[in-house]
Amino acid sequence: MTAMNAVSPAQAEAVANNVQVHKFGGSSLADAFCYRRVARILTEFSGASDIAVVSAAGDTTNRILAIIDAKQQQGDAATILLDQLERYQQGLITDLLSGDLAQQLMQWSQQDFARWRRWLAGEETIERKPELLAYGELWSARLLAALLRKQGMRADHIDARDFLLADDAPEPLIRVQPSRQALLERVAPHPGTRFIITGFIARDPEGHSLILGRNGSDYSATLVGSLLDVKQVTIWKDVAGVYSADPRKVERVVSLPSLDWHEAEELARLGSPVLHPRTFQPVDRERMIISVRSSLKVENQQTRIGQYENTEPRGKVLTSLADVALFRVELADKALIDAINELELTPLVRWTEPENQHEYLAFHQNHVEFLNRWFAAAPGSEHVQQIHGYSLVALVGNRIQETDEFATFKRQLGEQRVKRFGFSPDGNSAIAILEQTLDNRLLNRLHSQLFTYRRSLGVLVVGRGNIGSEWLKLFNQQRDRINQMMDVRVIGICNSTRLWLDYSGVELNGWQDSFERLARPYVMSELIRELPNAPYDELVMMDLTDAIAVAQQYPSFFANGMHIIAANKRAGSADEPLYREIRTIQREYKREWLYNTTVGAGLPLNYAINDLRNSGDEIRSISGIFSGTLSWLFENFNETTKFSDLVLEAKKRGYSEPDPREDLSCRDLIRKLLILAREIGLSLDWKDVEVTSLVPEHLQQIPLAEFLQRVDELDEPIQQRYAKAKAAENVPRLLASFSVDENNRVRAKVGVEDIPEGDMLANLIPGENIFVIYTDWYSEMPLVISGPGAGKQVTAGGVQSDLNQLLSKLAAQQ
Ligand code: ASP
Ligand code: MG
Repeated sequence: MTAMNAVSPAQAEAVANNVQVHKFGGSSLADAFCYRRVARILTEFSGASDIAVVSAAGDTTNRILAIIDAKQQQGDAATILLDQLERYQQGLITDLLSGDLAQQLMQWSQQDFARWRRWLAGEETIERKPELLAYGELWSARLLAALLRKQGMRADHIDARDFLLADDAPEPLIRVQPSRQALLERVAPHPGTRFIITGFIARDPEGHSLILGRNGSDYSATLVGSLLDVKQVTIWKDVAGVYSADPRKVERVVSLPSLDWHEAEELARLGSPVLHPRTFQPVDRERMIISVRSSLKVENQQTRIGQYENTEPRGKVLTSLADVALFRVELADKALIDAINELELTPLVRWTEPENQHEYLAFHQNHVEFLNRWFAAAPGSEHVQQIHGYSLVALVGNRIQETDEFATFKRQLGEQRVKRFGFSPDGNSAIAILEQTLDNRLLNRLHSQLFTYRRSLGVLVVGRGNIGSEWLKLFNQQRDRINQMMDVRVIGICNSTRLWLDYSGVELNGWQDSFERLARPYVMSELIRELPNAPYDELVMMDLTDAIAVAQQYPSFFANGMHIIAANKRAGSADEPLYREIRTIQREYKREWLYNTTVGAGLPLNYAINDLRNSGDEIRSISGIFSGTLSWLFENFNETTKFSDLVLEAKKRGYSEPDPREDLSCRDLIRKLLILAREIGLSLDWKDVEVTSLVPEHLQQIPLAEFLQRVDELDEPIQQRYAKAKAAENVPRLLASFSVDENNRVRAKVGVEDIPEGDMLANLIPGENIFVIYTDWYSEMPLVISGPGAGKQVTAGGVQSDLNQLLSKLAAQQ
């Protein structure tokens, strides 16, 4: 190796921090449609330097094995099968590519199949099966990279045999250092390129191909991830993660948000078909997370496997073997027992029954052949007997003995014929050997008795100002009541620069001090990518800011599985393009977005409107005074006061926005109007609203300090306006309104209007909001909602009401 191509530590670190690994199995690449879906997943869910590890397309590996078999049988079966494989592989190329790319791939494919033909004809030797099998993965990696290039991404494929060095053994032993070095040299110089790497295969020091075992690509993916020291590997499957039981046997299974390493390993050990048992071997458990996720329904829950030991112990998965391989050994045969102690294969469970002088060993059926051979050759083989008709059920979860589920499991099994009840050595599963074959009825019954558990919701609070603090206080007081519905915990609090995150739930008593001590600088976009790793069934982001920057991230929050509760108006009133994007992504990922407090603070306005509409009514118009600030200004204004003094007073008391022009220019009001109009399904944008601003042109652009000095320039025109109104026994008020005519045309307007002195709108308590709603049903006399339209307590209450709504919606989905 020359110094030239050595990778610097900084480069290696950049790879470790920026690259994630994705794995797609054969069934995710079964046809052209599947390939396109994978390409789309990579566009949406991978970074520009991410890696994808792929299996052979569809059942290619099985087809290759069939060809190898058929060749030994003579006849022309092998040729027919090879023709079929060629048609399948080249069909994928012509379906997916065109032009130069198609030509190039086709040429490679033709060369490969020509070689296979020569091999079939005996003109070329391909000695080892792994070399033939490796083609499957090579073809899919090559094709996927080409497809990504066609779609405008930078992508290339890597044959894992170019870097992954291993020594041949039933489970090949990876030579970590040289493999890491070679992979880094290939990948590190090309940030911004997505590499597609073949799963399943490696090479030995002589350059021969090796395979990592059937379904070994999961293992390849975590290997690649570990060699590069990445933080996350996502295994895309056609099921949504790991379930509480095998969905093929059990109804109403639930997908689990998280498993810790021990739980996942124990599941694999017990023969559950979720992940290849070696998948976990190479992983740096403190750094890496494995996410198991559905490629068919990306919005579905994913299961994250990681370091989650600190979470409450809970029985999580019911797993079973309908027919377990059970061996009975005579305890008296010491030599035999000694030999068994040396056996490489560890039994699922092992126990002795001293009273009968017997030892029992239970294994997975997969190992029966091996065991029969082994026992036949062992000393005292006549003292071993396989006994039939036994099954295994196990409940997996950390510290299983401490869980409520375990107590239920044990009680329910009391009615069955249990041969043996025990625990795995590390205490992460309770295992029962039943003296009966297992039917799905029993499994279903057990499952439904076990898993009626309370679901969990993690809350990220963004914004720790007035409303944030007030809501946290309220939530802390009401926790017990809320927790009856769901296990709800605040897992993070942040402002624009710093974040305090704790997946087990932050301590809310005295949180301000802890925040000062524990909050760290963070980057929002990275947080969003990281958050789905929190071990909760559902997550919600509470936007209690007034920041457009947060609103712009809503699509990412939704796409990463989070619901949103917002007191921030910026998203609901965003320009059409952003607003439409937010709504589209929200719908696509089926997330909730609640924002009751963005109009009229805690007033139940949105609920009233939605309830009417859901019951069949149509909203015709909404008008009124929607701004607490402007209400306060106008209700206090008369011939004896100066308007500018009131503006300064409102600012001093915190009734207005920091820059009072936000209120006076009616921007804040327009936001509410847009939110209301969109709520009832009208498309309305900023430009559609007629506005008369209270801030004259020459005061609009100047700096705030200068504006405050010249604020009395507001007085003259408004004084005149007041006098004119008064002469007609009216008073000026700042009104907002929109109405819909029969042709669904919308008129929206914001500005000062003259109101008769005795009118309801002219006699509000300063700060009060009023919404006057005409509908088909409320057509003679309007529905009126009024009350305080601002204030931290009512707003925090409104946020709490959104949380309540969210919980009921989530409960209804179950
Ligand atoms: N293609 C290989 C197999 O079918 C590896 C994999 O799918 O993970 O076993
Ligand atoms: Mg496979």
